[in-house]
Amino acid sequence: MNLIDTHTHLFGKQFDADRPATIQGAIDSGCHTMLLPNIDVESISALKETCIAFPANCLPMMGLHPCSVGADVETALERIRLELFAAKYIAVGEIGLDLHWDKTYQEQQRVAFVTQCRWAAQLALPVSIHSREATAWAIKILHEENISGLRGVFHCFSGTLEEANQVIAMGFMLGIGGVITYKNTDLRELLSGISSEHLVLETDSPYLAPNPHRGKRNESSYLTFIAEELAKVYRITAQEIGEVTTVNARMMFGLR
Ligand SMILES: [Zn+2]
Repeated sequence: MNLIDTHTHLFGKQFDADRPATIQGAIDSGCHTMLLPNIDVESISALKETCIAFPANCLPMMGLHPCSVGADVETALERIRLELFAAKYIAVGEIGLDLHWDKTYQEQQRVAFVTQCRWAAQLALPVSIHSREATAWAIKILHEENISGLRGVFHCFSGTLEEANQVIAMGFMLGIGGVITYKNTDLRELLSGISSEHLVLETDSPYLAPNPHRGKRNESSYLTFIAEELAKVYRITAQEIGEVTTVNARMMFGLR
């Protein structure tokens, strides 16, 4: 198998004790390419070190996560901008909106999201969008802003079927992760109405571990559990899910 994990935070401190072994484990499991979205200004050095250590397998994205948007958003964005325009990144991420944790900085979240989408369009890069309890809002903003050429992934997609069709129509793909393996999800039913050509795989490590590892630290080698569950939804083999989602991810992120 040749899988691509399109969203994995392997530079996080949760992997400090065994990062090389974890990445090698993913490669051995068939996940050869891992796309690493940045979180905030503090995480930049760990992100870069991880990608330098595994240049053939770990590729960095640069962005400011909505949960890291606060009163100092302008300073943080300026650091992210300098980094993004100075080095080679495969995407702008992780960016977006989050209404689950803290609604204090909603307006700052909107500004940071739009600003970073514009940078992505300028650099002709895709975006990795986080939209926890904010998918409708993200779609509304993208419609209003109508940024020419913008494309990307709604990571850990959790909207309705109608929203899924709207984001696909705007040039986006749906990131499917561990949630697809959970008993209480309606994602399987939703995906029965969506062609697999619009999907990419992701773990969102260290979060959202798929069954049978739910609740534990997630890692990119667990991508196989997600591929197997998706294979059941589409009534094809995990190998075939791997092939189609790898083609999709290569196309979206401009990978060879
Ligand atoms: Zn993430």
